[in-house]
Amino acid sequence: MNINMFIDGEWRESLSGGRKDILNPATGEVIASAASGTVEDTKLAIKAARGAFDSGIWSNLSVDERADYLYKIADRLEEKAAEIALLETENNGKVIRATTNVDIPVTIQTFRYYADQIKLMEQESYTRADSSETIIIQEPVGVCGLIVPWNFPLMIAAWSIAPALAAGNTVVLKPAEVTPVSVYKLFGIFEEVGLPAGVANLILGPGSKMGNELAESFEVDKVAFTGGTQAGQSILRAAAGNMKKVTLELGGKSPLIIFDDVDFETAVENAMFGIFHNAGQVCTAASRLLVHETIYDRFVERLAERANKIVVGNGESETIEMGPLTNESHMIEVLHYIKSGIEEGARLVCGGNRITENGLDQGFFIAPTIFADVNPNMRIVKEEIFGPVLVVEKFKDEEDAVRKANDSIYGLAGAVFTEDIDRARRVVSKLRAGITWINSYHLAYVDSPWGGYKQSGIGRSLGAIGLEYFMELKQINIHQKANPVGWYAN
Ligand code: NAD
Repeated sequence: MNINMFIDGEWRESLSGGRKDILNPATGEVIASAASGTVEDTKLAIKAARGAFDSGIWSNLSVDERADYLYKIADRLEEKAAEIALLETENNGKVIRATTNVDIPVTIQTFRYYADQIKLMEQESYTRADSSETIIIQEPVGVCGLIVPWNFPLMIAAWSIAPALAAGNTVVLKPAEVTPVSVYKLFGIFEEVGLPAGVANLILGPGSKMGNELAESFEVDKVAFTGGTQAGQSILRAAAGNMKKVTLELGGKSPLIIFDDVDFETAVENAMFGIFHNAGQVCTAASRLLVHETIYDRFVERLAERANKIVVGNGESETIEMGPLTNESHMIEVLHYIKSGIEEGARLVCGGNRITENGLDQGFFIAPTIFADVNPNMRIVKEEIFGPVLVVEKFKDEEDAVRKANDSIYGLAGAVFTEDIDRARRVVSKLRAGITWINSYHLAYVDSPWGGYKQSGIGRSLGAIGLEYFMELKQINIHQKANPVGWYAN
C-alpha cells in the first residue's frame, strides 16, 4: 500500500520525496510505504485549509448540508468496516475483536453523533427593556490542526475531525508517524463523498517538526492534540504566539480501587481488563491498582495466575486476547520501565519479559506484567508506562484509598469497585479525575465529555461540549435604528 498526503483535494508525495516504511507490529513485516513530510508540506496544507475556510465553501453551508456529508462518511465507513478493522489491527497490533467491536463502530457513531449534534445547536437571544435584542451565536473557530496518537489511530482522529467539520472548520490532520493506514482510508472516503477541496487535509511525518508547525503557525486558529503530556507542554508553548485555542487530551496513571466486599473473580477480571486492554496502551489504563489490605495478598496471587494465562499473539486471530506494543522503540521503553521497577525493589509477580516464543520473535510483544509491594517514589508508580505493566498497592480504609489514588500529577480517570454504592459515590466524588467508573472500566460514550484534570489535559473531547470547543461565541446586539447617546453637551 502506498500512502500519500491529501492536500487541497489532491494526493501528494512529500515535497522532499521522503518516505517511511509502515510495519505490522505483530510480525515486523512492512505493510505500507507512507510519505514522510516536512514543515514545507505542513505549510502547504495549512494554506489549503486557510483558503478553504476563508472562502466560506464549508462554513457557509447550512448545518443540514454539513451534517449530510458526515452521515455519508459514516455510511461509507460502515460499508468498509471489516476491511478497515483488519487494516487497523495490522497497523496498530490491537486485536481484531477490539477493532471490530470498538474502534470502527465508535468512529462511525462519532460522525453520526456530531451530525445530529450540530443540528441541535440553538442560539440564545434576549430582548431588552428598550426593545433592542441580543443574540448569541456560535461560529467555527477557523483552521484547526488536529494531532493524534497511535493507540486508537482512527477512533481518536474521529473524536476531533467529526466535531471540527460539523462546526464548519477546515482541518489539517496529523496522525502518528507509525499508524497512518486507517486515517488514510478515512481520507479516501472524504474524497469519495466529495468533501470540497481544502476542507480536510492529511499530512504525514514527524510530530516534532510537522506537529510543531501546526502549533506555531499564525494561520492556524486552534490545535486539538491527543498524545503525551510532554508533547502537550511543547504544543502549549508553541501555540502562545498567536494565542490560538488549544485543547489537550494527555496521559494518565489512573487508579482502580478494590474494596473487600466485591465479587472476587469479577473484580480480578475487571482489573485485568483495566490494564491489559490494548496491551496497556490506553490513556485511561488502570495502571495503579489499589486493593484493600484484607484481600491484597490473595488478589495479587490470583491476578498473577490469570495474567499468566492471557493469550498473547497476532491480534488478527479472534482467539487472541492481547496483541503487541505498537512499535519497537515503545516496546524498548516499556522494557526499561520494567527494569527500573526491579532495580528500585518492587516485587515482580508475573511477566517482565519480551515474548519471542511460538513465532512471536519478529513482533513487539511484552508479557502481562505485575509488580506488587511498590512505593510511591518508584518511577513505575509515578510515570505513565503506556504498556501492559501494573503496579499494585494496598490500602487501609476509604481515606487511605482516596489519598493514594489522588497522589499523581495526572487526573485522567479512576474507578471504584464495591457493592456499597454509597461508599462508591463518596469515593468517586473525591477522585481528582475527569473520567470515573463505579464497578466497570474503560467504557466510553460519545455523548459524554472525555478529558482530564491536572496534567492530563485541558478541555474535553466528545459530548456536546466537544463540539463547543470547536466554536467561537459571538454576541450580536441589535437596535433597529441608531439613537442619540445623549452623553456629550457639545
Ligand atoms: P506522542 O505525544 O508521542 O504523539 C502524539 C502525536 O503528537 C503524534 O502525532 C506525534 O507525531 C505528535 N507530536 C509529537 N511530538 C510533538 C510536538 N512536539 N509537537 C507537535 N506534535 C507532536 O504520543 P503517542 O506516543 O502517540 O501516544 C501516547 C500518549 O497519548 C500517551 O501519553 C497517552 O496517554 C496519550 N493519549 C491520551 C488520550 C486522551 O484522550 N487523554 C488518548 C490517547 C492517548
